[in-house]
Amino acid sequence: MSVLVLAEVDNGILSPATARVVAAASQLGPVDVLVVGPQSAADAAASIAGVAKVLVSDGSLLADSLTRLLLALTVRYQIVASAASTLGKDVMPRLAAKLDIQPVTDIVAIAAPNRFVRPIYAGNALETVEDSQAKHVLTFRASAFSPAAHGNAAPVEVLETPAHSAAKFIAAHRTESDIPDLATAQIVVGGGVSVGSAEGFQLIEKLGKTLGAAVGATRAAVDAGYAPNDWQVGQTGKIIAPDLYIAIGISGALQHLAGIQGAKKIIAINSDPEAPIVKISDVALIGDLFEIVPQLTAELEKL
Ligand code: FAD
Repeated sequence: MSVLVLAEVDNGILSPATARVVAAASQLGPVDVLVVGPQSAADAAASIAGVAKVLVSDGSLLADSLTRLLLALTVRYQIVASAASTLGKDVMPRLAAKLDIQPVTDIVAIAAPNRFVRPIYAGNALETVEDSQAKHVLTFRASAFSPAAHGNAAPVEVLETPAHSAAKFIAAHRTESDIPDLATAQIVVGGGVSVGSAEGFQLIEKLGKTLGAAVGATRAAVDAGYAPNDWQVGQTGKIIAPDLYIAIGISGALQHLAGIQGAKKIIAINSDPEAPIVKISDVALIGDLFEIVPQLTAELEKL
């Protein structure tokens, strides 16, 4: 089956999520990638192993025109796939509706070419669904798949710019940060409400910086104003799947655990040996975070 993957391009730069979706989609058939963005992003997509061809358009990433572009391309492909990101959640259901088919969203594993595993009930259960439709619109949870390696440069086809959108892009307001993206980071350091203040949260950020990690937070920490909203991890926040998650002063409420089930290893730093996070952690440091975290950071800085 021929697959078209919609690339994630943010601020003109190809997101690491694209290589992960390509790795997933390669299990289904030969993969072409659609890049709506600059030539440099198309070149980056062309160097992902497993990509047969890159289609590049300088059109708009707004959902209505992007849906029209994808719809026109569906004559060439049986499967259209993207990350289960904000962009994917915006565009793919529209595309499925135009094709009058049911999308399969948030896939975390491929059981067979038309059987997909996806979380339900906020990650408390996994369901396997069979998609027997003639065409398939799929979104993959990028963090659940390892990224495809670098490959030889694939050919790039330039598409005609599609008709303009009914919506108009005005401005993007960005938080400037050199911290890795939570959704795709290999190491995430998370802080809970027990840090006690925004200043206290800087302990978490300092450890994160030392490790080159992304920083996450519980909802309680976000609600208290200690960490920004887009750091929230969990059922109503971001879903992460790092190689290592360091949970600091976090109890491990179900709604938080829903966001970290993909973490390969968990280290808990908590004063309560009975905390739920301690029970599911691979390593637990029982003690006061205000003593342990500065010591840990100082030791790591020596390396
Ligand atoms: P607490 O549960 O208060 O835990 C604090 C922990 O810190 C405890 O384990 C304690 O032993 C430890 N501790 C205290 N002092 C120290 C110290 N000095 N050193 C070391 N350890 C210490 N939560 C999320 O995180 N993400 C979500 O997406 C989310 N969605 C939700 C959706 C709904 C509909 C609802 C109802 C709730 C949601 N929540 C979510 C909230 C969730 O239920 C918990 O309230 C929250 O996760 C708890 O955050 P916490 O671990 O920081 O705080």
